[in-house]
Amino acid sequence: MKYILLLLLSFPCRLIAQNNYDIIIRNGKIIDGTGNSWFYADMGVKDGKIVLIQKNIPGTAAQIIDAKGLIVAPGFIDVHAHVETSIFEKPTADNYIYDGVTTVITGNCGGSADDLPKFFSQLNSVGISINIASLVGHNTVRRLAMGEQNRLATAAEQQKMEGLVQQAMKDGAVGFSTGLIYPPGMYSNTEEVVGLAKAAAAYNGVYASHIRNEENKVVDAVNEAINIGKAANMPVEISHFKVNGKSNWGRSKETLALVEQARKDGYDVTIDQYPYTASSTNLGVRLPDWAMGGGWDSLQMRIKDRALHKQIIAGMLDQLKKYNFENYSYAVVASYEADTSLNGKSITEINILKGRKSNAAEEAETILNMMQNGGAQMIYHGMDESDLRYIMKYPFNMVAADGGVATGKGMPHPRSYGSNARVLGKYVREEKIISLEEAIRRMTSLPAQKFQFKDRGILREGMAADIVVFDENEVIDLSTYEKPHQFSKGFSYVLVNGQLVIDKAKHTGVKSGKVLYGPAKM
Ligand SMILES: [Zn+2]
Repeated sequence: MKYILLLLLSFPCRLIAQNNYDIIIRNGKIIDGTGNSWFYADMGVKDGKIVLIQKNIPGTAAQIIDAKGLIVAPGFIDVHAHVETSIFEKPTADNYIYDGVTTVITGNCGGSADDLPKFFSQLNSVGISINIASLVGHNTVRRLAMGEQNRLATAAEQQKMEGLVQQAMKDGAVGFSTGLIYPPGMYSNTEEVVGLAKAAAAYNGVYASHIRNEENKVVDAVNEAINIGKAANMPVEISHFKVNGKSNWGRSKETLALVEQARKDGYDVTIDQYPYTASSTNLGVRLPDWAMGGGWDSLQMRIKDRALHKQIIAGMLDQLKKYNFENYSYAVVASYEADTSLNGKSITEINILKGRKSNAAEEAETILNMMQNGGAQMIYHGMDESDLRYIMKYPFNMVAADGGVATGKGMPHPRSYGSNARVLGKYVREEKIISLEEAIRRMTSLPAQKFQFKDRGILREGMAADIVVFDENEVIDLSTYEKPHQFSKGFSYVLVNGQLVIDKAKHTGVKSGKVLYGPAKM
């Protein structure tokens, strides 16, 4: 009798268990994100989690995906994004999803949402297709505490900024970011940044930095970032690691050696990189730092003042010379609101179109003229392919696009669309710079470990079901500088928190992304 009762109790349970998956991914080649080799297994997903990984999972599910011949990997984590406004224009984040990205960290380069709790609650109420975490930005808190002032902070201002960083960490930021080439952060000294970094370190945050210089003073700037991490006793992430300007090509050997030495000395320093030799930022960075002090209106007054105008031009030409560029042909307009017909043209071309003489001084005048008409978003072809490859080989380097959510407008840098597919297609498959398992590790478990996403970045039972299924022989980026608005191809299925956001290579419109909070709010 007892035996029969047991049988009755246990048998139906097992039957239910066998059918109890939302999705089963069958026959895939699993690359788990740790860097280990691929293996064959099925994967059962339920209630947003991976519940079983083994060969021949018995039973059925609401949906069966046949991944025969395809790679099954953790969803990619992009630690360097700028989606503060663009995510609300396109909450489905198609450019990220089609590139295999299921989580982004925004608030980089010193710029985050002014009010993080409000930002997070807006994301939750709108619904998003990717997971989003945020850093708190130096420029953002400095602007809130002391506007656009070109000077050091007073003790009271410093205290106010530290309070803002602390509060942001309590509200769920994953760390503190700087953008030390941008106003007003560039008017700070190292001491100010250390003070603010400490405020984030108290809540186990990461220090992520767009360093003070990526050109002639890049060695000093890498050292500053490492030293800030040492002083604040916190992990450092050096953003979009590069050496810019012809005169600096080849110096990645020097700068990476600094990172490696810091690691040997016991400091947790890692880097990220986008796989392109052009950078993208605003036109204002071509002007001397002092010209931007006090904000936009002050700049306009200086451009109109004859003596200051001359000094600005002199500073610009000096910078050009230092980078070893003859003219501004390396600077191409991505988006110029005052005249969108100039999008895609270089400053050299625009200068000729405006009927000016073709020389660097006249081109600098053309730039100031554009700054008087609202400025522009630019693409700068300033890097060398051999530095890019050298940096890519570094094992503690993550793939990060430094992009935003693409809305289909302007001429954005193709990195927003294709960074991960480009690494997998061009650099892994075609050029064999790194192995597939290694590339996936850099896109998944490395960023997850660094930013403490404890249940993501690795395919294991119990982990969140952020999963990509792609064809290693097909995956490639299609976005180019000339025609940027093209999604990557090769991703057949993308799951975010257990739901299909890409099904048979098409975005489903499902918004199963979440806000991911930092360690103080987890
Ligand atoms: Zn940056």
